[in-house]
Amino acid sequence: MTASIPPIRVGLGYDTHRLGNGGPLRIGGINLDCQIHSIGHSDADVLLHAVTDAILGSIAEEDIGRLFPDNAAENHDRNSADFLHEAIQRLRSHGMEIANMDCVILAERPKMAGHIDAMKAAISKITETPIDRIGIKAKTGEGIGPIGQGEAISARAVVLVYKV
Ligand SMILES: [Zn+2]
Repeated sequence: MTASIPPIRVGLGYDTHRLGNGGPLRIGGINLDCQIHSIGHSDADVLLHAVTDAILGSIAEEDIGRLFPDNAAENHDRNSADFLHEAIQRLRSHGMEIANMDCVILAERPKMAGHIDAMKAAISKITETPIDRIGIKAKTGEGIGPIGQGEAISARAVVLVYKV
């Protein structure tokens, strides 16, 4: 990164997965005991994927799909904490740290409210970032569209990073 770049940068991440019958639902680095699961090549953690892409985007690196292809055997059923950890390592290799992140989960079910603190704790641990720098909220799809009909789950994340 050149000296002319200001000491703060921003990154945006987005992800969606189809949902299938049978739990648990892997999201935010934890397992939710419910009757649906997220479908994907890895553990299909939609929130960690969005956060990973936000961090990679903040340093203008390749996205999660390029770094961890979904046709690579080593990524099958892989813990998405590995992807997020790699993104953080790359961020720190640029001498940067997370100022804060804010995330939105879009899911009709299950109710996320009681699990937000556990997700924050998991992301805090993986990224070695203080928990008060991590925002997570959840919204439903109001019964309409792929989210509202329970066909898909989605997440957005924005991250602000700064030069240490
Ligand atoms: Zn994903």
